Amino acid sequence: MFPANFGYVAAKSVDEALQLLSKHGEMAKLLAGGHSLIPAMKLRLASPRTLIDLSTVPGLGGVKIEGNNLVIGALTVHADVASSDLVRKHLPGLADAASVIGDMQVRNRGTIGGSVAHADPNADFPVILTALNASFVARSSSGSRSIAADDFFTDFYTTAMTASEILTEIRIPLPPSGSGTAYVKLPHPASGYAVVSAGVIVTRQSSGSCASARVAIGGLGSGPIRALATETELQGKPLTPQVIAAAAAKAAENTNPMDDAYADAEYKRHMAVVFVRRAIEEAARRAA
Ligand SMILES: Cc1cc2nc3c(=O)[nH]c(=O)nc-3n(C[C@H](O)[C@H](O)[C@H](O)COP(=O)(O)OP(=O)(O)OC[C@H]3O[C@@H](n4cnc5c(N)ncnc54)[C@H](O)[C@@H]3O)c2cc1C
Repeated sequence: MFPANFGYVAAKSVDEALQLLSKHGEMAKLLAGGHSLIPAMKLRLASPRTLIDLSTVPGLGGVKIEGNNLVIGALTVHADVASSDLVRKHLPGLADAASVIGDMQVRNRGTIGGSVAHADPNADFPVILTALNASFVARSSSGSRSIAADDFFTDFYTTAMTASEILTEIRIPLPPSGSGTAYVKLPHPASGYAVVSAGVIVTRQSSGSCASARVAIGGLGSGPIRALATETELQGKPLTPQVIAAAAAKAAENTNPMDDAYADAEYKRHMAVVFVRRAIEEAARRAA
């Protein structure tokens, strides 16, 4: 499998990458870790005339705290998210997701920005970042804008970013004390991508009952789906196994997943309930 011929430019700054995007137009593609784009090019699903490499731009990687947010540079590779002390301390559910992506080679090259920009419906980061209420900072020649996760993933392999924007960072609110986060997935036995997955953040009141919860599911639609009925069901209740199971039972309500060669829609809906329950149980355990 060989890609069509293409040109390659290593950008030295975000400004230069933006100029190159405007010069080459829709025939150009940004290149980060290349672990989704290069396979697509080899399969001739994508045939850009020019690749603009972002991995040569300094300052787009790393994890830091800024005010009340954990900020992750778009070029941060999955392995660095998984092993970051800041991520493990404040958002262990995000480390859960990063550590189950692909294999070691994928985690050492693939980037969090490339993963969310690619918006594969079975990818791991979009689901946990939706649960964590992340926002995505996109830069264009006219400035930067921030897009909330609930508005970012618009369709299969499609985001709210335009072709003239570059994702520069992901900002995640630091959870209040008494919070726990978790991510679990049912991996496809061949590809390792999620058949279904669940990302959760819960916050406990001092009484032990649930002050708030956000629950996102992967694998049931074109992108992450908020399990709103589950979130409502948890609100104000003690996080007991019975309450969690009753709330998780509502997770797949109003979803319409597609049958595929590995799993039919009914199986996916059933497993979504199982994995949402496991993710809430783990998040509640961490919150305690
Ligand atoms: C064998 C294998 C197994 C995998 N398993 C999993 C898995 O289990 N779970 C999972 O979630 N993923 C999995 N992946 C995908 C992997 O996580 C990719 O690394 C990720 O989807 C894309 O990141 P990247 O940095 O490689 O992006 P690239 O492939 O370089 O780019 C992907 C797309 O995003 C665009 N893009 C990249 N960076 C930016 C940016 N900063 N701003 C705007 N657009 C940008 C590119 O133009 C391109 O369209 C797997 C990949 C492989 C090859």
